[in-house]
Amino acid sequence: MAKIYFLDVTNRDGVQTANLGLSKLEKTMINMYLNEMGVFQSEFGFPTTRHESLYLQANLELADRGILQPIRLGGWIRAVVADVEKAFDLVPDIKHLNISISTSAQMLQGKFQGTKNREDVVNMMVDAVEAARAHGAESIGVNAEDASRTKIDFLVSFGLAAKEHGADRLRYCDTLGYDNAFTIYESAKILAENIGIPIELHCHGDLGMAAANSLAGAKGAIDGGQDAYINTTLNGIGERAGNADLIATALAVTKSKGFAKKYQLGKPIDLTKAWKVSKFASYAFRVPIPINHPGVGANAFAHGSGIHADGVLKDPENYELYSYDELGRGEPELVETGREICSGQYSGIKGFSHIMGQMEVSFEDDRQAEEILELARYANVEAQKPLVEDELLFIAKYPKIAKKLLTMRPLEKSVLDIIVPTA
Ligand SMILES: [Zn+2]
Repeated sequence: MAKIYFLDVTNRDGVQTANLGLSKLEKTMINMYLNEMGVFQSEFGFPTTRHESLYLQANLELADRGILQPIRLGGWIRAVVADVEKAFDLVPDIKHLNISISTSAQMLQGKFQGTKNREDVVNMMVDAVEAARAHGAESIGVNAEDASRTKIDFLVSFGLAAKEHGADRLRYCDTLGYDNAFTIYESAKILAENIGIPIELHCHGDLGMAAANSLAGAKGAIDGGQDAYINTTLNGIGERAGNADLIATALAVTKSKGFAKKYQLGKPIDLTKAWKVSKFASYAFRVPIPINHPGVGANAFAHGSGIHADGVLKDPENYELYSYDELGRGEPELVETGREICSGQYSGIKGFSHIMGQMEVSFEDDRQAEEILELARYANVEAQKPLVEDELLFIAKYPKIAKKLLTMRPLEKSVLDIIVPTA
């Protein structure tokens, strides 16, 4: 029986969201957390974007050292041979890629302005897949952007061409959140049956159905005989109305009526990390978790009305579908209400040693403490907010990796250097 896997795109779709972004350390922490949760793959960034190069390399180094394992780290690029070349030039050790191109008539006309037809789209995708294979990519997903507005017979031939040239998965992108559970089920089933490779479901929430569509699409892929890879983001952060939320979708797959009996996860998701990870994503993105968010919202286990309170006290199953401790909630959390020493870009060694001492981190000597502090200052400069404990611990544990994350070299060979300033 085919299975369901989670492929999280927070570090790609999440960070390309208008008005939002993450520091390179925050992106790294998210990869670490996704790994802890059992997510199969993190789409960890854009290998053709120069300011991400050292971040991507540093995370691949963590994977190489067995720290970011077993999660796969995959990059997102356009289906353009030059982009494949650039990706392997800037990030030579990248092993997993998703290669994207628009497939719908709307995009061919509206985006490419009629300069490309279907044949061109297939050819560009095939050339990019072959180039990625030639560079030694271990796995390749091919993304059909705007798949839900693409004629299904063209999607099948697009997917067959991808498979024939060595792609491992087809990403069905409901780019505009246009599908409903019935239509995406049908499409995913037809694609799985006729192409014969695993199907990724990439769902957006413009009509409020991202998690439901992910579930239905996964069912379609599995009923068609193929594994399903559900794309998610933390707290559903993504373009416009966002993507399928990791926690909500994992809950839907495992807890909804009868679903998990037949449609199972290839790799279990450890939801006991949900509370910590969701709170981190909220802090990092500076976007509050809605109080009614499934599982991790402030009201997800709150009962006000007399009948509900009475019922849940008699037996929680009267009014709760799952328990708060399954989400990692219920532990007391310490909040400092008195004096607070923060780490910041202007921190000094005494305050910093105090903070690290509270976390039972000690340094070999003053020089080591100074160097770690310097990295923490730089991390603060990039994030523009105090670092959380796990970030400080990460810096203390992997200072060389942290240094790489914090290094950016814009325009190394720049024309700006040879422009003579005038007045
Ligand atoms: Zn998207």
